[in-house]
Amino acid sequence: MRLAGKVAIITGGGSGFGEGIVRKFVAEGALVVLMDRDEAAAARVASEIGEKVRPITGDVSTLESFEAAADLARSAFGGLDILVNNAGVAQPPLPLETMDEGLFDRIANVNMRSIYNGSRAVVPHFKSIKSGAILNVASTGGVSPRPNLTWYNASKGWAIAATRAMAVELAPFGIRVNAINPVAGDTPLLSTFIGSGEENRARVVATIPIGRLSTPQDMGNAAAFLCSDEASMITGVDLNVDGGKCI
Ligand code: ADP
Repeated sequence: MRLAGKVAIITGGGSGFGEGIVRKFVAEGALVVLMDRDEAAAARVASEIGEKVRPITGDVSTLESFEAAADLARSAFGGLDILVNNAGVAQPPLPLETMDEGLFDRIANVNMRSIYNGSRAVVPHFKSIKSGAILNVASTGGVSPRPNLTWYNASKGWAIAATRAMAVELAPFGIRVNAINPVAGDTPLLSTFIGSGEENRARVVATIPIGRLSTPQDMGNAAAFLCSDEASMITGVDLNVDGGKCI
């Protein structure tokens, strides 16, 4: 029970990596506010798990959504200890000069602005309790980019840089900030990056030394450790959960 009694906000918990993180956190004793813009997805996960998860519909590109989630954490569970910034958007492969502004803005607003918004909503509270953990879900693309995913990869590189900068600023207040870098995962998002079909999947798997895609459980395991007191001396890291891709 690494997270016994801890209260966490997990964004994008209605699917994929976020759902895996929600399930692992509850298994480790946490109480979770699951924020997702997809109301049905959040409700499904919450009803499957039970009263330790409270769903809330919200969009991470707005500060109000995080404030509502933080209010729910305090009113339903009596506190707030952890924020997991997981919700993200992908891009299809594109030569970098051809991405339209609408998609660029969505990537910036979800993958980058979410970290800014989340920090504004939780850091004052974390400072008041002199503890807290923030985990940003970045990507192997942020450290080891493949061609034609430039603006997505750049947003994840920004998330890693933000993690380091936040960590050094917040360490004196007892607040830790870390990131994980998932490699391509067995989640609905994968088809946005690579299209569908077995052949595309096999091509991606061939680039991962361990020989498989990552799973939501892999992300849950890494996230639970980094947000637990077992990692109390660890801050500012981005942990590759990548089957050896980034070595
Ligand atoms: P991944 O592979 O990163 O887990 P998924 O598409 O499986 O990707 O899951 C991403 C989750 O994040 C979905 O449940 C989606 O509804 C949610 N999400 C995406 N954008 C936002 C947003 N702006 N605000 C809140 N949740 C979001």
